[in-house]
Amino acid sequence: MTDQINNQKSFDTGHFEVFPWNENFETGHELIDEQHRILIQLLNKLATTLVDEEYSAVNNAFDELADYANMHFDEEEAIWLKYLGDDSWFSSHQLSHASFLPRVIEIKEQNPGRPLADVVEQIVKFLIRWLAFHIIDNDKRMAIVIEAMEAGSSIEEAKILADRKMSGSMRILIETVLTMYDGLSSRTLELLRERNARIKAEEQLKEANRKLEALTFTDQLTDLHNRRYLKSVFENEARRTQRDRALLTYYLIDIDYFKDFNDNYGHLAGDTTLKRVADRFKELCRRPSDFAFRIGGEEFGILATSQTMQEAETFGEAIRKSIEDMQVLHGHSEVSDYVTVSVGGVCKVPTADTILDDYVEIADRRLYQAKSSGRNRVILSDSLAV
Ligand code: GH3
Ligand code: MG
Ligand code: MG
Repeated sequence: MTDQINNQKSFDTGHFEVFPWNENFETGHELIDEQHRILIQLLNKLATTLVDEEYSAVNNAFDELADYANMHFDEEEAIWLKYLGDDSWFSSHQLSHASFLPRVIEIKEQNPGRPLADVVEQIVKFLIRWLAFHIIDNDKRMAIVIEAMEAGSSIEEAKILADRKMSGSMRILIETVLTMYDGLSSRTLELLRERNARIKAEEQLKEANRKLEALTFTDQLTDLHNRRYLKSVFENEARRTQRDRALLTYYLIDIDYFKDFNDNYGHLAGDTTLKRVADRFKELCRRPSDFAFRIGGEEFGILATSQTMQEAETFGEAIRKSIEDMQVLHGHSEVSDYVTVSVGGVCKVPTADTILDDYVEIADRRLYQAKSSGRNRVILSDSLAV
């Protein structure tokens, strides 16, 4: 029987089925079996709403199941009625149907303050027990009666036959199946709950990381300052250099052919190179007025103060050379055997209304020029004119 349980057909109700269909549930009546299958599918759907924990999803799934159950009970009763019109078996079956939804609604409305997941779980467990028992005991019994009557038996003979067939080993089978489904559904609900908790924890972790990142000024990979810090440093440095009438230079630095580097040596090697480049920049920025940043990807920024343009050009060249001199092999660069950078920058005394974006725009244009005129070179502007 274990094999039969494991080999059941499955229906598409998401990842989990609290109630997998099994051949033991078949009564032999095609229409009734089809409707039972759909009922079970709707039950599985209701159980998966446990994950959503959304009232509307639970209510929709519940209404769908309730509507379908009502329709099914009516149709089933019409079939049983044809054969068992005045019989007590028919009226007690009808009663059993009639008590189904009120019982579910009762569970649903107990203690309105309870967590939704608990309510759904209790309803789902009740539904599993009820449907499993109703289908494999009551409905099967009725189906046996019909089959016997179709074959010419009287109601009384048919009922005796059904009682006999549904006792003994069948009784044990029913009990076993019910017990297995109880355990199975509990474990599946547990899995659903765990998945739900995990999804929530992951979301909280992501949110915490987002907050943390917003609070920090450090790039995680390279340990350089990040782009956020550039904003606040720039404001200070612009004010200071304006007051001192010193030159403030922003260098925008981009590794050459770095995509090819990654593609050929792997992303890990790429990361290692980014760290080494960052370390070089840290070494270069020795003065308190020099700052190195990782802007993003393979793009870096350096903010530095100088007295002359010549000095700024020399520093730009030192930036470029410091990377080429590391001699990190790059067999897929068209400009050198080693990893190189191109540098675009702007060097001037800021005015009261100078903002970072002005510097960034010009540095970006000069970087583009450095790239298009051959890479591994530095182009500096001495004004903010485009
Ligand atoms: P160009 O000389 O014109 O700058 O060419 P490029 O290939 O360097 O430029 P492109 O913008 O096409 O590619 C940049 C590449 O940088 C893409 C990506 O593979 C790599 N990259 C960006 N961020 C990271 C990172 O954090 N780690 C690693 N390993 N690679 C990165
Ligand atoms: Mg780039
Ligand atoms: Mg690049």
